[in-house]
Amino acid sequence: MTTKTLSIDGLEIQLVRSKRRTLGLELSPTGIKARAPLRMSEQAVIEFVKVKRGWINKHLGSMPPSPTDNTVELTQGAPLKLRGQTFNLDIKQGSRQKVRIQGNHLIVPVQHSKTPLQTRVKNKLTKWYKDVAQQELHTRARYYAMQMNVPERRTDQIYVRDYKRRWGCCDSNGKLSFNWRILQAPTAVSDYVVIHELAHCHEFNHSQRFWRIVAKQMPEYQQHEQWLTEHGHTLYQF
Ligand SMILES: [Zn+2]
Repeated sequence: MTTKTLSIDGLEIQLVRSKRRTLGLELSPTGIKARAPLRMSEQAVIEFVKVKRGWINKHLGSMPPSPTDNTVELTQGAPLKLRGQTFNLDIKQGSRQKVRIQGNHLIVPVQHSKTPLQTRVKNKLTKWYKDVAQQELHTRARYYAMQMNVPERRTDQIYVRDYKRRWGCCDSNGKLSFNWRILQAPTAVSDYVVIHELAHCHEFNHSQRFWRIVAKQMPEYQQHEQWLTEHGHTLYQF
């Protein structure tokens, strides 16, 4: 048996060759494995992984529905979500100040520049959401990791990303990443995403055992999964 690591479209795949007849993919706590016959060409393995990409994504993390981007114009008074609550966008021009919340207003100060106003607002707002998500999800990941017996080192650092097709990810090294957009959802829903990914630190698949781990921590998890299915696209409003 020989092993080699392939990088395919940003995915690390361990290619394990042995005396077998067929090609198979396997998700395990140690990562994604492609088990291939000894003589199969590497190109054939790469093609296969590409074809199976949807399946891999589905099993690596719960997937958001296709994003419907930019449905809300970031103009004065636009409704913005944070932890399930609605705030009204308040654009203040000509300022270097930080984004802040005041009452039910989310104040976004922007500086004058040649960049279109919408773009400046979007950039500053997105950066702010990511910063807040980074802090809050980190705190919550640490808390739930302790409850779920996930080794502390797994939550030393978490990553916040701009995923198009997923809410979170626990990669083969146990690195936890989250879609910043979940910060817009009700807190119980983003907690569910955190718990879901932490459960992958124990089970790198969606087996019954995996769902039992999730349910132990969050018995009502199905309603949050349902929320994401029904309302997930609203988190892609800008
Ligand atoms: Zn998952």
